[in-house]
Amino acid sequence: MAKEFDRARVTVVDHPLVKHKLSILRDERTGTKQFRDLVRELARLECYEATRDLPVEPVRITTPLCEMDAERIAGRKLAVIPILRAGLGMVDGVLDLIPAARVGHLGMYRDEVTHEPHEYYAKLPEDIGQRVCLVVDPMLATGGSAAAALQYLRAQGANDIRFLCIVAAPEGLDVVLRADPDVRIFACSVDERLNDDAYIVPGLGDAGDRIFGTR
Ligand code: URA
Repeated sequence: MAKEFDRARVTVVDHPLVKHKLSILRDERTGTKQFRDLVRELARLECYEATRDLPVEPVRITTPLCEMDAERIAGRKLAVIPILRAGLGMVDGVLDLIPAARVGHLGMYRDEVTHEPHEYYAKLPEDIGQRVCLVVDPMLATGGSAAAALQYLRAQGANDIRFLCIVAAPEGLDVVLRADPDVRIFACSVDERLNDDAYIVPGLGDAGDRIFGTR
């Protein structure tokens, strides 16, 4: 039976467009260019959902016909923070919708002796505590590095963190949700399980290799 997790803080973006694009993404025959384009498109669709609750404020504008009371986003600033390396593939999808977002970078590695994840590179906006932080990484597998990344971001002052992945394993969701009681997670799919090599099944393989054409 699949591992259980707290579904209240997980949004599965199951729009038909997402399902369609994800099926092409998963297919082993999909090449690098199309894979990269699809990751960007899925990130864009997820970003749309993940920012649904941004507050708006009234603004008086003039259309070619008359004046009207319209609305605009009320001063919440955003940051998109890819976890290196695969997270880089999702950045442009977020920036397509929020061009003014700042981009922070976070690199995590796993200590070969302790197996604990640590950050090896971090460059974040200074005012991260005032920003909605969209942390992006296509695959939420064991959840170890995602949980460590969130812990690091909290220690740097991040308050509002939303984690956007494309495919999540139930095991990883459980780890991250337990480690961070406030994070909300957005995924295009929650898959069945992890295999013995910590790959998500059915998954899509190694997202970083498929985005960057390495292997
Ligand atoms: N990272 C990946 O790229 N794919 C997986 O299935 C798990 C972790």
